[in-house]
Amino acid sequence: MSCPGYVQYARLFPKQESGRAADMGTAVHKVVEQCLRDPSLMASSFEGHRVNGFVMDEELIRAATFYVNYVRGFVAGREGLFVEEKVELSWVHRDIWGTADAFFYDQDHKVLHVFDYKNGSGVFVEAEWNPQLMIYAAGVVSRVYHKIADVENTTVSMHVIQPRYDFDEPVRRFDLSLGELMLWAATTLKTAAKNTEQEGAPLVAGEQCTFCECIALCPAYEKHDRSLVLRDFEPLHPVKPEDLSPEQIAYLLEGTAWIKRYCEAVAKFAHAQATQKGIIPPRHKLVASVGNRAWDDETRALSVLSSMGVPKEKVVEVSLRSPAQVEKIAVKYGVDKTALSTLYSRPSRGLALVRETDKRPAIETGVSFSEPTKQPQKQRRYHGKRIF
Ligand code: SF4
Repeated sequence: MSCPGYVQYARLFPKQESGRAADMGTAVHKVVEQCLRDPSLMASSFEGHRVNGFVMDEELIRAATFYVNYVRGFVAGREGLFVEEKVELSWVHRDIWGTADAFFYDQDHKVLHVFDYKNGSGVFVEAEWNPQLMIYAAGVVSRVYHKIADVENTTVSMHVIQPRYDFDEPVRRFDLSLGELMLWAATTLKTAAKNTEQEGAPLVAGEQCTFCECIALCPAYEKHDRSLVLRDFEPLHPVKPEDLSPEQIAYLLEGTAWIKRYCEAVAKFAHAQATQKGIIPPRHKLVASVGNRAWDDETRALSVLSSMGVPKEKVVEVSLRSPAQVEKIAVKYGVDKTALSTLYSRPSRGLALVRETDKRPAIETGVSFSEPTKQPQKQRRYHGKRIF
């Protein structure tokens, strides 16, 4: 929505294979889908199973369990939960459709709940005014509109459930009245959709580029401020760190995440070109890729090992879960989590240099600033090219 030119520009690119993170997300989605369709099924029953190429380990099962319990909490055993249902908004634009993770119309409280599971642990997903979530929600409204008795007083509650993101609460919720949501769809969304069809629809770089498959070659993103880091800094001839000014250091630190993402996007694009079009970059080749060995069926492997005389305790590791994990479990047994605070501590790992926007409070070290002994050069040149 924020980049009107995306739709036309993306057509120029070969379809890219989903990455490891997306495949892992699909695996968890498959597990939670089955659990939500069958109220007697627990996510934990999938532990150790291989789904979509991923072994459902403890962490994934914990995330799945959290989501399933969260959704079940709203449904409270009633009928009417929809899971992995296709929704569309053809009245806004013919190409707007998607699959909603789960939704439930709570007639008693006049609330339509739309649940969106996010498996990512690295990028925070906001719920407030999140266009993707609002599109799903508007599509869901279109699906269940005939069931809504009191349209004027119905709230649409949009939930982002991201249990693997450790730096914030696992759930974000955004409520809008049904009228507000549909007005947004009929005006803002409709206009944005129309704009994508205009000839020369502009590419607009921003936060949305993070997950865009076009990022590697997109000219708008290349002009984006972070791209200056890559354009002006020759990685093969880097300036010595001690020759950089504080401003230059800040500039590079801010660009690190972007450069990493950019390189990942280039690798993804090159992979798609190679596997789908046979375009192999110089000095590269395609090879068979296999993952680490993993037990197909842990229970069977244990029983075979046992029949061979290998003691179970020699091959099975038992360890206490992390304090954060144990806290979540203990509260379910009525334990006040503050009672556990004497049982763990946080090992100090020194100081971390982070962006000002980081939520943690700044630490005063008491070390006073002194001029560097070596003055950074105002301008440096490599091969006649000015950097910075
Ligand atoms: S990378 Fe950003 S600017 Fe380029 S098409 Fe994607 S969303 Fe638009």
